Amino acid sequence: MSEPAGRHREDKVANTSVVAGANVVAGADVDAGTNVVTGADMATGTNTATGESTTHSPDFSKIRLDFPVLAREVNGRPLVYLDSAASSQMSAQVAERIDHYHRYEHANVHRGIHSLSQEATDAFEQTRDRVQHFLGAANRSEIIFTSGTTDSINLVAHSYGGSTLRPGDEILLTQMEHHANIVPWQMIAERTGAKILVADVDEHGNLDLDDLRTKLSNRTKIVALVHVSNALGTVNPVQTIIRMAREQGAIVLLDGAQSAPHQPVNVQELDCDFYAFSAHKVCGPTGFGILYGKKELLEAMPPYRGGGEMISRVSFEGTTYEEPPFRFEAGTPPIAAAIGLGAAIEYLQSIGMEQIALRERELLEEATKKLVAVDGLRIIGNPAERSAVLPFVMDGIHASDIGTLLDKQGIAVRTGHHCAQPIHDRYGLDATARASFAFYNSSEDIDRLVEGLEFVKTFF
Ligand code: PMP
Repeated sequence: MSEPAGRHREDKVANTSVVAGANVVAGADVDAGTNVVTGADMATGTNTATGESTTHSPDFSKIRLDFPVLAREVNGRPLVYLDSAASSQMSAQVAERIDHYHRYEHANVHRGIHSLSQEATDAFEQTRDRVQHFLGAANRSEIIFTSGTTDSINLVAHSYGGSTLRPGDEILLTQMEHHANIVPWQMIAERTGAKILVADVDEHGNLDLDDLRTKLSNRTKIVALVHVSNALGTVNPVQTIIRMAREQGAIVLLDGAQSAPHQPVNVQELDCDFYAFSAHKVCGPTGFGILYGKKELLEAMPPYRGGGEMISRVSFEGTTYEEPPFRFEAGTPPIAAAIGLGAAIEYLQSIGMEQIALRERELLEEATKKLVAVDGLRIIGNPAERSAVLPFVMDGIHASDIGTLLDKQGIAVRTGHHCAQPIHDRYGLDATARASFAFYNSSEDIDRLVEGLEFVKTFF
């Protein structure tokens, strides 16, 4: 006898335990199968109650060894990877966890009665618990699996925006948004007759809060803004902005693509309505990401895509839909990627997000000091609070030439507009070079960058 799909899935979800399954600890033995541990300090390990590391000062030189790619050469020189804002590197533990799933645990999720499918479902659903904990969400059903930040924002724009916006309603964005937080809103504004307003950014790279306040009104239905800018590194005062938006009755979406990897985030403390991030920027795999949404909002939202998994009952007379999160997860999901994100989060938590933020602040301060001393180099912006992202230009040398010549020396930086053309327009620039740091970078990486830039100057 076949079992009702909904109940079957709930049984599997109920089997899930945050403590069981893949145990991730950093620096360590990648042969451990589903056990992943960091180089942080294996003796101390993780606090299973909080998931945060109990270590106070992790040994980041040891942690660096978790990333085999950092030991390779590029163009005959040891690789210096300074492009983590585009995509972070994956630790060996995470790669091993994904490999183990593919080799020994693969089956489709939520469907099979057989044990392998139940195991896969447990591992898959465990990621939802880990993400709930990582973001401090109140409910596991508030965690939607998507293909990344872009997909998460499109989901909100099309489902929430598409079903609630009316002609004359306003969507407030900022000048420093990534295209992923501009284009979906333009598309939905065109469809609904809503209007887009844009809050200005000042010459230092800070959001102009006075301008933002004047653009907020009771016509504002949605405020969508970046928590940390990928182009400038600015950390926006989102708590203040969320409070301002609330006073006007607007909901707030935070683009967390650049905040989730670098600092502790608690969506309940922030009181944001939606929060999006990508797995590939938190040491996880590509093609996967998260949308957090407040339960009551998600419950009222229509599906975004139709298909298997997201329905309660289908007939040609009419179809009813599952509750969130499954309502928004049509089709077979990227199971391995979800399990990989779970392992990545456990890896980061074994180091501790506070420790990661502190380490990256040190790297940023050191890099800023050393880059400022390079004659003819100008760092773009000087925001009140900056994450580990340093965009810069050099007198008489185009950003793409900087990037090409650094690459010849094994140094990877990003050049261009970083999918944020409006903020480049704001500063009258067509491109910048951008060095972005992660906890696995070192002082030697910064010295190599400075050396590389001195070489770029001699070349021109
Ligand atoms: N927003 C920001 C701030 C980003 O940095 C990025 C990635 N560069 C995105 C959105 C889009 O992320 P993804 O391509 O993973 O969907």
